Amino acid sequence: MPTFVRTDKCDGCKGQDKTACMYICPHDLMKLDKDGSETGHAMKAFNQEPDQCWECYSCVKICPQQAIECRHYADIVPLGASVQPLRGTDSIMWTIKFRNGNMKRFKFPIRTTPEGSADPTVGLSNPDKSKLEDPTFLFNDDLHSCDMSQFVAG
Ligand code: SF4
Ligand code: SF4
Repeated sequence: MPTFVRTDKCDGCKGQDKTACMYICPHDLMKLDKDGSETGHAMKAFNQEPDQCWECYSCVKICPQQAIECRHYADIVPLGASVQPLRGTDSIMWTIKFRNGNMKRFKFPIRTTPEGSADPTVGLSNPDKSKLEDPTFLFNDDLHSCDMSQFVAG
């Protein structure tokens, strides 16, 4: 089930050109309705193609206002219940609301290193990005060398 934006909570990411939900959506579905001409709610974001939503939860997790919710399939989360994350810099808290009003919270660490400190090359030299255009690049480094004649038609 797709996401939807709670207009009472969304602040349009304070008018930035690209909102957090627009930045993170892998399918470019989120859009800021700056003048309200599309939804009747100016400076609120919306999911412009709900039927294309992957339900990946990325926008739900990144929204700083917790303004995005996801309707789940009824056999997992029946009507009246909800599953809502709150992401911090080193952990994520899931709030589970049951239909009978019971509430449970689960908090999990999401990092093993401080935010911004990940080393993508882990001490190795930086890769030569110009080689990305070379179709044989994957097979011609020290780790993946192989007999290219098996791939190239003679
Ligand atoms: S990230 Fe949240 S607050 Fe920002 S525009 Fe999207 S829904 Fe609104
Ligand atoms: S749940 Fe994923 S695919 Fe759907 S609008 Fe949010 S970020 Fe995009």
